[in-house]
Amino acid sequence: MSLDPRPYSRGELLYQGKAKQVYATHDPARIIIHYTDGATAFNGIKKADIADKGVINCRISAFFMEKVAAAGVPVAFERNLDDRDQLCLKVDIIPVEVVVRNVVAGGLAKKLGLPEGQVLSAPLVEHFYKSDSLNDPQINESTAVVLGWAKAWELRAMHEHALRVNSVLKAFWSELNIDLVDFKLEFGRVTVGTATAVVLADEITPDGSRLWERGTGRKLDKDVFRRDLGDLSDTYRELYTRVFGKAV
Ligand code: 5GP
Repeated sequence: MSLDPRPYSRGELLYQGKAKQVYATHDPARIIIHYTDGATAFNGIKKADIADKGVINCRISAFFMEKVAAAGVPVAFERNLDDRDQLCLKVDIIPVEVVVRNVVAGGLAKKLGLPEGQVLSAPLVEHFYKSDSLNDPQINESTAVVLGWAKAWELRAMHEHALRVNSVLKAFWSELNIDLVDFKLEFGRVTVGTATAVVLADEITPDGSRLWERGTGRKLDKDVFRRDLGDLSDTYRELYTRVFGKAV
């Protein structure tokens, strides 16, 4: 999609999220995602500001979006405009969150009474209905199709893209001696003329991933905040240094 030559800056606030805001731009085909330092857990019950989290997540997400795009996954991300602002294609968000799991943890452990840490025999792909008021309940693909939230071909594309993202991320973290336990993705539709494509939207950050240090099992993700395991700002700074080889 061609770039509008005028410089991009934040326009009207379209969406106020927990850790991000979404702004319109002068170009109807593009939005700006602004990363804040806000952190919430348990559907907004627990809240805090985490120093530099917005900058760290903005850079980490851009880094991974470029990596998965290079591996053939279509992404809404285009480029970072500054430390906290990211230019993306405007998409119609599909209200079905995709979680990929390599190891049992969190919701899966709780739901099935399994021990956290059990390695799965293959990546497990789960679906959740994106609804804050309902606490994102788990659904299956049939529910999504019958209720008109996504078409069957779109779910197939999401599944394929999610597994490819998993391969790329898992290999990357593994090089750093970190196990990618699970993560959540969101997808959106982009329509050009009569053609619609499903693209990866939102973010790839430690807010929406579980990352365990190999050997020690130390958590290097937002569970540090959710479970009161330490200082999340220090954890994210450490993760940033491991990814980029220099301090934030
Ligand atoms: P679980 O279902 O075990 O709570 O979460 C699975 C994975 O998806 C975890 O990596 C978690 O961080 C991510 N995840 C699921 N729902 C959300 C959400 O609403 N927000 C964020 N940031 N991550 C989520």
